[in-house]
Amino acid sequence: MLFKKILIANRGEIAVRIIRACYESGIKSLAIYSDDDKKSIFYRLADEAVHLKGTGAADTYLNIPRVIEIAKETGCDAIHPGYGFLSENSDFVSACESEGLKFIGPSSATMKKVSDKAHVKKIMETVGIPVLPSIAIEGEVDFDRIRTFVSQADFPLIVKPSFGGGGKGMKVIYSETEVDDAVRFAQNIGRSAFGNNAFYIEKCLRNPRHIEVQILADNYGGIVDLGERDCSIQRNHQKILEESPSPALNKESRNKIAELARKAAAAVDYENAGTVEFLYENGQFYFIEINARIQVEHPVTELTTGIDLIKGQIRIASGERIKMKKGVSPRGAAIECRINAEDPFNNFSPCPGQIKGYRSPGGIGVRVDSGVFMGFMIPPQYDSLVSKLSVWGRNRGEAVSRMRRALNEYVIIGIKTTLPLHRAIFREASFKKGDYDTSYIEKKLEILNGIMQQIRETEKSHDELLASLFQNNNHPLAICDANIELEDFMVFK
Ligand code: ADP
Repeated sequence: MLFKKILIANRGEIAVRIIRACYESGIKSLAIYSDDDKKSIFYRLADEAVHLKGTGAADTYLNIPRVIEIAKETGCDAIHPGYGFLSENSDFVSACESEGLKFIGPSSATMKKVSDKAHVKKIMETVGIPVLPSIAIEGEVDFDRIRTFVSQADFPLIVKPSFGGGGKGMKVIYSETEVDDAVRFAQNIGRSAFGNNAFYIEKCLRNPRHIEVQILADNYGGIVDLGERDCSIQRNHQKILEESPSPALNKESRNKIAELARKAAAAVDYENAGTVEFLYENGQFYFIEINARIQVEHPVTELTTGIDLIKGQIRIASGERIKMKKGVSPRGAAIECRINAEDPFNNFSPCPGQIKGYRSPGGIGVRVDSGVFMGFMIPPQYDSLVSKLSVWGRNRGEAVSRMRRALNEYVIIGIKTTLPLHRAIFREASFKKGDYDTSYIEKKLEILNGIMQQIRETEKSHDELLASLFQNNNHPLAICDANIELEDFMVFK
């Protein structure tokens, strides 16, 4: 039996995504929203919504007792955490378990194992999955142990918070003199952002690709892999574009990474949707972590497999068995671009603000996942993701030209976004050949800047077209400085 009502402990595009899956599954959805989100659309799309008094995440989307209380008061039988916020918090999973609410994700026992990235590497090592050499430090910092490890290691090294995520708190170091600063940095970010100052120091690969495998695992030991995603296009260790299949793999290496991922999932008794992440260099895979949640880039896999991963999560959580014996065979190629509210012409500085003109692309093979609309004010206190633009093509060439076309059609006026960067990437020669690694953005920045300038100067701008259309027609949704109230154009509620 599927659930009756699911509380969505999240906001923005991923809340919209989960509401859509609930609707199609005939399950009621209940959204929660903070003061900062009063003018957001996601909670209005849900069947029910409860306002969480307060601003900022700590008092609202991270408030475990309040989220549990709302779920119980409103008769929800399950909670979907989305990504970020409480999605990988084992205390939250335990609280759900003891209150009789189904957490849509792995059990608290599995969550405990995988949320400590240093610890999970040890588990992988014991089952023969390759990892990079590292040293893990908890509590009191033992500088003698660190010095011994560092003196025997090859630089560069990378220092990372053990309970980190989103590339936060990580620093690459090239000599012993940089160790202390990087350790302090990882500890501080670990403590402030993730509530734990444990960290580890790992060998740093110079030119790896980041390749990860999507898996689904049921509660009876059934595990399937749904193909890989190449997430090597990154800035500051954060993904900005993902594609499947990886242009770097052949049949043999693809089978290898899928097998390693299934083995990794089995080693921690994994349940529900998860991602096993690897670095890939010189033909070798190295496990880095398991993300025990739905990921931002999951649409890429949905496009190549036709499987709705959120529905899959819900069905597994409700006790269904996975019927497929082996992984599916993905079809064609899919790419996702993360459109962030950042100015690519000004060192990617954050640009929250009001969207004053908006037209999203469409047509064959194009998908947009977003929680924004014209008039929406991007709140500065949450992450800068505005929208995810994804395409599918019969092969990589078709997907690349389709994305180039969709990026051209996309108009977002009023805030600066990373659209120009993506438009440049899809015109850049190495990317078009599939020849890139995690240092791509850093190495190609000058070339990409040049392409961005050239596009700005020479190509017809859809932004200008939309702006002139609104101004000439005195359209009711015309670009204006007044705050547009969501109610003014909510016609479907
Ligand atoms: P987070 O969980 O914060 O995202 P990850 O451990 O997944 O951190 O790493 C994020 C990115 O940082 C990777 O995709 C890769 O680009 C880079 N990175 C992490 N560890 C290493 C390493 N040992 N060598 C080289 N790059 C690394």
